[in-house]
Amino acid sequence: MAAWGRVLGGGGYILGPSVQRFETALARRLGQGGVVGVNSGTDALVLALRLLNLEPGDEVVLPSYTFFACFEAVVRAGAVPVLCDCAADDFIAGAQQIAACLTPRTRAVLAVPLFGDASALPGIARLCRDRGLTLVEDAAQALGARAWSEERGWVPAGAWGDLGTMSFYPTKTLGATGDAGALHSPHPQLIDRARSLRNHGLLGALHADVGFNSRMDALQAEVLLIGLEQLDRWQARRQAIARRYLAGLSGLPRIVLPQDREGHAWNYFVLRSAHRDDLQARLAAAGVDTKVYYERPIHQQPAWLERFGERDLPIASSHARQALALPIFPGMQEVEVEGVVAAVRQAVEEGQQNE
Ligand SMILES: *Cc1c(COP(=O)(O)O)cnc(C)c1O
Repeated sequence: MAAWGRVLGGGGYILGPSVQRFETALARRLGQGGVVGVNSGTDALVLALRLLNLEPGDEVVLPSYTFFACFEAVVRAGAVPVLCDCAADDFIAGAQQIAACLTPRTRAVLAVPLFGDASALPGIARLCRDRGLTLVEDAAQALGARAWSEERGWVPAGAWGDLGTMSFYPTKTLGATGDAGALHSPHPQLIDRARSLRNHGLLGALHADVGFNSRMDALQAEVLLIGLEQLDRWQARRQAIARRYLAGLSGLPRIVLPQDREGHAWNYFVLRSAHRDDLQARLAAAGVDTKVYYERPIHQQPAWLERFGERDLPIASSHARQALALPIFPGMQEVEVEGVVAAVRQAVEEGQQNE
């Protein structure tokens, strides 16, 4: 409230010193490179792909099992989206799945550390380097995650690619009180161009390019500055909750738990069950709210089918029928965590008895 009071009293509501301070703070956290604050994670993706100067026919490989915005950004950049499947028994599309989709027309890879799991990024970065491909990393769900690089040590999610994008939608690991996003790059010329494009292509007083209105507002920047200082503490709490779920639910029949990978940001805790709908209904009756990420992978969305037709991506299709996200957020009380564990155990048991 104090920070907002200063902004409201000062009268500068869009961009300005608050946004600059946030950009600097986030850039420092991500290591080398610059940050441009924008209006949403989706805008950050659209901007990132626009910066690649893709030509008609250029292909961008991305997972089918991800949020729809990834697909939108590729299409809006005028490129051809090529969807890859998930790794067997995993929600993530790793280097192997991406490599299977490369063609002579591939220009870029859009990697997604889904749910906060950054473990596939080192392999994907190596693949992109070996093949001379641009790597765009959609770290919308992964701010706070990290993965190990042979050359650079621990590298935070968002800083693996030529471009990294983040979302501060309220449900992400760093949430704003509205829409906001950011773009990161180690390449200063890309940062300069992104800064211009987010504000109608302005360069000084002139419009050097046809851009967007995607300016971050100062009230969001102030919230995000405060949140950024809490991020490590929140991260530790998310990890503790995830570990409690993993311990408390281990060995249960009918569910597959996510893997406890080093550096996981645990934005979402997503398990799989062949009896997902039954489990979800029982948990709802017990007062436990759950969510399905994602009801359908991109290759099964009407907007995809209408443009590109059918694809056979069996693992993504199967996961979409089985995924169920349990509640996980830093403010969750111990008694709530234990309540979820008990409710899932009971729901699984009852489901089994009712067969
Ligand atoms: C949330 C999200 C986005 C979009 O972010 P918005 O800020 O909601 O526009 C993009 N990609 C992924 C993987 C996301 O989870």
